[in-house]
Amino acid sequence: MTSLLKTLSCADGYDPESLSVEQARKLILGLVEPVAGTERLFVRNALGRVLAEDVLATANVPGHDNSAMDGYAVRFADLAAEGDTVLRLAGTAFAGRAFEGRVEAGQCVRIMTGGVIPEGADTVVIQEVVRAENDRIVVPPKQRQGQHIRRAGEDLRAGTPAIRAGKLIRPAELGLIASLGVAEVNVRRRLRVAFFSTGDELCSVGTPLKEGEVYDSNRYTLFGMLTRLGCEAIDLGVVRDEPAALEAAFRRAAAQADAILTSGGVSVGEADFIRGMMGKLGEVAFWKIAMRPGRPMAFGKINDAWLFGLPGNPVAVMVTFYEFVREALLKMMGVSPIEPLPQFRVPCVTPLKKRPGRSEFQRGILFRENGEWKVRVTGTQGSGVLRSMSEANCIIVVEHERGNVEPGELVGVQPFEGLV
Ligand code: AMP
Ligand code: MG
Repeated sequence: MTSLLKTLSCADGYDPESLSVEQARKLILGLVEPVAGTERLFVRNALGRVLAEDVLATANVPGHDNSAMDGYAVRFADLAAEGDTVLRLAGTAFAGRAFEGRVEAGQCVRIMTGGVIPEGADTVVIQEVVRAENDRIVVPPKQRQGQHIRRAGEDLRAGTPAIRAGKLIRPAELGLIASLGVAEVNVRRRLRVAFFSTGDELCSVGTPLKEGEVYDSNRYTLFGMLTRLGCEAIDLGVVRDEPAALEAAFRRAAAQADAILTSGGVSVGEADFIRGMMGKLGEVAFWKIAMRPGRPMAFGKINDAWLFGLPGNPVAVMVTFYEFVREALLKMMGVSPIEPLPQFRVPCVTPLKKRPGRSEFQRGILFRENGEWKVRVTGTQGSGVLRSMSEANCIIVVEHERGNVEPGELVGVQPFEGLV
């Protein structure tokens, strides 16, 4: 037995003929490792990439104590505990144009949001509560010492990590990196993922369909999912169900990619000759996962490339990608910590037929009714009906042990769209 298969077989409760979703996810995530290569990029080009090293704050952010509001910078000690205090206006402090000089006893300075707190002042009084009569400024009592001031270093202290290695760079990180004055960052190299579809019945777009053929859609959903994840998607086309063609495709894929994704050919009737070939090419386990859709799956290694042999059904491809492959690829991309897809619990308005003993992933539509979020299923739930994925805006997760769901019961949902 090869070493990978040996490792797998030693895992707790490992039974390739019946794995829970959670077991399969843990096994995969425990085996894959981040790729080593890095490159240096201008900040904007790093969007969607993964930081390879901490980005340190080179200076305090903000650099100076500054005002959080439009108002007046005052000396708290000047203010009377009871009744109004009259101060004399000594000048202005605007954002980017500081007040030169010191606020002396009995004085105040007009200050705008972001203006540097002038020397001598320690408190900001908002303009709305102040009465201004020429250069006489009347401040009411009950102010708090130090109020409305953003402190130097409050966002970030000089020398401390502003963003940790392993962070996926989103718009907020681009801005944060720029706020430190940093122009270039070290990121992991892009993950290379080769993919192909298998099946004698598959026809590529642009060619007329022959009797009994279907258009290959999986290469398109895979391309989309991989690209959005930030991977380099390498399309190796459609491969016939012939041992020689498949072997050549696997070799080509392994030679240029960190991971290989295939669709089709892993179901019981089809897997036999692929199984034989895999034994020759690498170490691959064939799993039956207690889930719907997406029961059969192959996982293993060919040379240095991880292989994810996904089922052929178009919905199963997407569900297994999101439930197993996504986290594994994120780990390989260097993302740390790995966060599972967010999941919320909302009432389901439609009854769901469900058998305990397997996880089900139904296509759902989250909607709002009387201010409350609820979910219903899309019409047809067949694992070949890709339209259900397009109509859906979430996956409804019905857990392993659960049986039928009655209308109004809470179910887990994984929304398709994130905030950023
Ligand atoms: P398989 O897992 O190869 O037995 O395929 C299961 C079902 O999915 C069959 O109905 C196939 O025709 C269909 N299928 C497989 N691959 C694709 C593909 N790339 N695009 C669209 N449908 C596919
Ligand atoms: Mg097939």
